[in-house]
Amino acid sequence: MNAKRLPGLMITGTNTEIGKTYVAARIAESMVAAGHRVGVYKPVASGVTVPGDPNHALSDPLVLWNAAGQPGELERVCPQQFRAPLAPHLAAAAEGRSVDARLLREGLQYWQETSEFVIVEGVGGLMSPISDEDYVADLAAEFGYPLIVVAPNALGVINQTLQTLITAATFRDGLDVAGIVLNQAAPPDPSDDASLSSNRRELEQRCVPPVVAELPWSADRFVEEVDWFRLGTTAADE
Ligand SMILES: [Mg+2]
Repeated sequence: MNAKRLPGLMITGTNTEIGKTYVAARIAESMVAAGHRVGVYKPVASGVTVPGDPNHALSDPLVLWNAAGQPGELERVCPQQFRAPLAPHLAAAAEGRSVDARLLREGLQYWQETSEFVIVEGVGGLMSPISDEDYVADLAAEFGYPLIVVAPNALGVINQTLQTLITAATFRDGLDVAGIVLNQAAPPDPSDDASLSSNRRELEQRCVPPVVAELPWSADRFVEEVDWFRLGTTAADE
C-alpha cells in the first residue's frame, strides 16, 4: 500500500521515552499557528491511560490531538490502544486481544481525507515490533512520509542516532529521513553530562540528514524556525 495523497511527516526516535510525542506536538502547534490543517495519527499505543486516570491528560493521543487544535474525532487519532506498558503486540496479548495489522494502515485514511498535512507518531524506535508481523519501519515504508528522528540530547545520542539512520537507510528500499530533532528530554545538568554542549555539533558532522531543530527542556517552541510543511513534502506530492 502506498496511500500517500498529501504531505506529512513520520516522527520516530532513537528509542522510546525520548520525547517523540512532545516533539510531534510542538510541530503540530507550529504548523497550526501557521494556518495549516493538520491531522495527527498514532497507529497503535500501549501503556495508555483511560479517562479518569491521573495522567490521562498526558496520554499520547490526547496530547497530539490537543496540539493540532482538536481536529476531527479524538478516537481516530489512535484507533488501537492497550494498557500494558509493553510492545503493542504483547500489550494486546495481555488483554487477550491482538493488534489489527490492517487497521494500523487503514486508520491513516481518515486523516488523509480530512487534513492537508498528517503527522504520524510511531511507537518506540524503527525496529520496535508493532504487530505480530510488522515493525514500525514497515509502516514507515508503506506510509512513505519522510522521517523525523527525535534524538535525546544526552550521552549516547551519537551511537543511537547513527544506528537509527543506518536502519533507515537499509530497511527495505530505504526510508527517507528529512532530519533530526535534538530534544532535551530531561532537565539539563552539564556537571553530570558533559556531552550536552557537543552533541549537536557531533551529529551535524557525522550524520547525512541535517539536524533541523533543537528543543530545549520543556520549551514550547524550537530554537529555530522550521518549514515543516516543506520538510514533509516529497517529489511525489508535487
Ligand atoms: Mg509517545
